[in-house]
Amino acid sequence: RRLDNRSGLSAGLLAEIQTPISTEPVDSLYELTGELGRGKFATVKRCVEKATGKVFAAKFLRKRRRGRDCRAEIIHEMAVLEIARNNARVVNLHAAYETDHEIVLMLEYAAGGEIFDHCVSEELLPEAQITRLIKQTLEGVNYLHQSNLVHLDLKPQNILLTSLSPPGDIKIVDFGLARRLGAVGELREILGTPEYVAPEILNYEPITTATDLWSVGVIAYMLVTGESPFAGDDKQETYLNVSQVSVDYSKEAFSRVSELAVDFIRKLLVKAPEDRPSAAECMSHPWLWQHQFCLSPEPATTHPIRERSCGFKWPVPPKHTEDK
Ligand code: ADP
Ligand code: MG
Repeated sequence: RRLDNRSGLSAGLLAEIQTPISTEPVDSLYELTGELGRGKFATVKRCVEKATGKVFAAKFLRKRRRGRDCRAEIIHEMAVLEIARNNARVVNLHAAYETDHEIVLMLEYAAGGEIFDHCVSEELLPEAQITRLIKQTLEGVNYLHQSNLVHLDLKPQNILLTSLSPPGDIKIVDFGLARRLGAVGELREILGTPEYVAPEILNYEPITTATDLWSVGVIAYMLVTGESPFAGDDKQETYLNVSQVSVDYSKEAFSRVSELAVDFIRKLLVKAPEDRPSAAECMSHPWLWQHQFCLSPEPATTHPIRERSCGFKWPVPPKHTEDK
């Protein structure tokens, strides 16, 4: 079934923002120093604030897309960033500018690039680093979910690092598809990239916070194996792999992966959203704590998730797990 992407997009958008939108030209205040990324409707450029010398990432968003005015979508993206402003795992919005054709979001700069680069590199990160990054991602996701927000586009391209080597802390970016839950009725939309989205999105079933946890499972899979679990040769095949939850847990793919990592991923890549653990529950999975003394201490976060506070007890993973 083909559905119109755009029909649902106007529903339930947030419209209230605190950040003033300035009409001052960006290039009079910042020196643009190169491209960081590019999507369908946005270009992100590195820039230096002339007055302070501080580096930012400027996300240039086109207001007109496919002949439609999308200013409301951009305001919504700003509103979501503002709600998550106090969380260190979410990229900070510094300022906003507007021209005839674009709105520019001046964002905290994440100098380490995408964790995607660590999913496709010859040299994968050690598991102690991966668990640290997954833990931080869960902290951010938990904060969003507590604020009734779902990201809906979590993927290795939207999780950035503050520094590259050694890998710094994560920053979640790209809130273009994020939605507030429970405002008006249930949320059903077709969005995101098939490779990374949960079966309920492809089946046009209700979206919940569990939808993001599927994506966390995909990200963890990619970081430990260097492979995308559902990517097929074409879109059709990818859809089928996702909806059948056809995942390769073979010895070859997981030769250097711990059993606890496999157990963590298996619990997230589950078809029924209600059977996936929440972000808070994931935080107490033993995989995330087995390496905690291997790395130097992390800097404090503004709102750390309270460890093991949810009271959820993980069953001890069986030695040999069978497919359901
Ligand atoms: P899109 O909606 O086009 O995917 P994103 O917000 O995901 O836009 O930005 C596109 C890319 O630009 C990201 O995947 C990342 O590589 C880069 N990028 C975005 N924000 C930042 C940032 N704050 N610091 C550094 N790079 C960034
Ligand atoms: Mg993106």
